[in-house]
Amino acid sequence: MTDPHQLLVRNPATEETVALVPAAGPQDVDAAVARAARVQPAWAALAPADRARLLRRFADTVDAHLEELARLEVREAGHTVGNARWEAGNARDLLLYAAGGAERLLGKQIPVPGGWNVTFQEPLGVIGVIAPWNFPMPIAAWGSFPALAAGNAVVLKPAETTPLTALRLAELGLEAGLPEHLFQVLPGYGDTAGRALVDHPDIAKIVFTGSTRTGREVMERCARLVKPVTLELGGKSPSIVFADADLKAALDPLSFLDNAGQDCCARTRILVQDTVLDEARDVLSDALAAVVVGDPADEKTQMGPLISAPQLERVRSYVPADAPALRGSAPDGPGYWFPPTVLTGERPDSAAAREEIFGPVAVLLPFTDEQDAIRLANDTPYGLSGSVWTRDVGRALRVSQGVRAGNLSVNSHSSVRYWTPFGGFKQSGLGRELGPDALTAFTETKNVFISTEGPAQ
Ligand code: NDP
Repeated sequence: MTDPHQLLVRNPATEETVALVPAAGPQDVDAAVARAARVQPAWAALAPADRARLLRRFADTVDAHLEELARLEVREAGHTVGNARWEAGNARDLLLYAAGGAERLLGKQIPVPGGWNVTFQEPLGVIGVIAPWNFPMPIAAWGSFPALAAGNAVVLKPAETTPLTALRLAELGLEAGLPEHLFQVLPGYGDTAGRALVDHPDIAKIVFTGSTRTGREVMERCARLVKPVTLELGGKSPSIVFADADLKAALDPLSFLDNAGQDCCARTRILVQDTVLDEARDVLSDALAAVVVGDPADEKTQMGPLISAPQLERVRSYVPADAPALRGSAPDGPGYWFPPTVLTGERPDSAAAREEIFGPVAVLLPFTDEQDAIRLANDTPYGLSGSVWTRDVGRALRVSQGVRAGNLSVNSHSSVRYWTPFGGFKQSGLGRELGPDALTAFTETKNVFISTEGPAQ
């Protein structure tokens, strides 16, 4: 039974209780939004260089607590310590990048007859950010820091299972000198605190990251208030491997089991040209056996546990014990462990091949030629990410143009850099985060015409 008044944070590697955190309800959301609305105008009125200076100081404070933040992420989310350090560093780097954006939030001067025409990018007000549990720190940062840099206040609701690093980030912001109430973190449940944030009339925009199902509901509720949304939703991303590719690099299992596969960009559909299917199976089998699964606090570990018992059940439901598969190993005993798995007998239209599993499970599917690869890659409701592996540059470009997804990489499995745009096509989302235009998504464009004709006599 969940307690509506508090959140139970468990270590997913051991099932031990890490913390009990009071859960915010709708009245707490009302109070937080009112406080944020009071302080936001003064923040927006600060000179851009002063806003930037405070955000850079915030970045320095995060940097000074990097190891502490990383260790907290290991305990509340089960992330490997190497990944958790990258995540804390990502929050720091985005603060520095967004700080520079405050000084470069440019308008346009548009030629018109009879006067001057200029545009301004004005902050929206108070932004509501709803974050998931799979990357608690980076996703909290991506929604919040560019919004702050553009002159907004932020109220952030982290996932009920992973509130601790977001709470710590807010404390570090205060320590760095951010105005009180400008960046508030309200831990709570999605169906109470989350909904209250979405429905609040003084929240000017919602940034939501999570499942497509909940994202659809958030969008419907925002529509009633004509409230803008950014949605970062699910994925079922392909890795398209042509026969001429470097098979070892292309079939690196970390492409789908990094963060135990709880990654919206995970390459969970491994599409391999049929002429090298047997070879690919051998490469994958050896690679899965070599993956180090275990204590996420150990520097050598490559994959930790799943986040929770319900997530483990969900992942298991896609992998019957007798399913044809290549399998790695995972620890027994306490913790939410699932072995790295590649299903080899799925049809392209099966649930495992089309639905977001969010665990260390991929499907292996053959294709015949370039057109067949593009058709298969596009045969899902999602369009977030993907990789193309070939030594033929022309083919890499043609396939990149043919695949309908927001973030593609050629001969690489990378997806996210804070200075390039990130977001999905189709049911993977709406809008973009990060990159050079990140701040603009938290502004309204105002157009002002100034007559040079003088007042009418
Ligand atoms: P959700 O999309 O339900 O949760 C994401 C965030 O939204 C959490 O903070 C959650 O709060 C909040 N939330 C839940 N319901 C509402 C609501 N009605 N209104 C406003 N906010 C709400 O994902 P789940 O945690 O339930 O995970 C289920 C599946 O979703 C996963 O197995 C995975 O497939 C997918 N998922 C995808 C992610 C991605 O990055 N693409 C991230 C997370 C999940 P609370 O924590 O209290 O539920």
